[in-house]
Amino acid sequence: MKYLVGANFKMYKSQKDLKEYFDQFVNNYACFVNIDLMIAPMTVCLGTASEMTKDSCVHLGAQNMHYEEQWAFTGETSPVVLKELGAEYVIIGHSERRQYFSETNEMINKKLKAALHHGIRPILCIGENLEQKELGISKETLKIQLREALQGIDEVEKIDIAYEPIRAIGTGKSATPEGVQEIHEYIRSIIGNEKSRIIYGGSVNDTNAESLISQPAINGFLIGSASLDPQKFLKILDVVSKSESVKK
Ligand code: PEP
Repeated sequence: MKYLVGANFKMYKSQKDLKEYFDQFVNNYACFVNIDLMIAPMTVCLGTASEMTKDSCVHLGAQNMHYEEQWAFTGETSPVVLKELGAEYVIIGHSERRQYFSETNEMINKKLKAALHHGIRPILCIGENLEQKELGISKETLKIQLREALQGIDEVEKIDIAYEPIRAIGTGKSATPEGVQEIHEYIRSIIGNEKSRIIYGGSVNDTNAESLISQPAINGFLIGSASLDPQKFLKILDVVSKSESVKK
């Protein structure tokens, strides 16, 4: 199994910023044999990003998509177009989409099915909020998210899972390596296949990456803030590339 390391640029980085980023990044990034690297810029920048990263080892991803191929849905993006623009991955069910755009597990389930149908590898985001953690229902919450999101899908091994506890996203307060290890083992026991990568997201940076990735059940990262600086992101990739905890 290769590690999966993903960068989620959210609504940061204009086309001009992307050019500067990739000028530094692609030139300095020698492909790591044990890592699949995914970068998800804003959807409107995917075509340009495709040009900038061609002949490199960067795989592009989208941050969201609609489940319909075409319909009268003003402002939405079709999986067909994502594919045309060069997206190989798509992040589905990010907590910001659940929170600010009212995405439900039912919608997420449809999006996963559509992505698989169109040959785009989904990264399904799940995670409990602080209240759920304090109530001691983290695992129950994750189980429901997984059950509803994966309902009727028999190719779960074609999906990677990102465990992103909401309290850790963008706060600078990562979950503990031991805590993430325990949750990832739990997620693995539910999805029941060894091929999906279970990656961690939530304030991963160049200081805490090593202790996190040394946990055997952490198969990579989804990174927001620290991916915006190419030098920091390269440092994290370097740390992951030297880790041997991933299953062969
Ligand atoms: C994210 O948004 O998926 C994320 C993990 O962000 P950050 O790394 O900034 O916590």
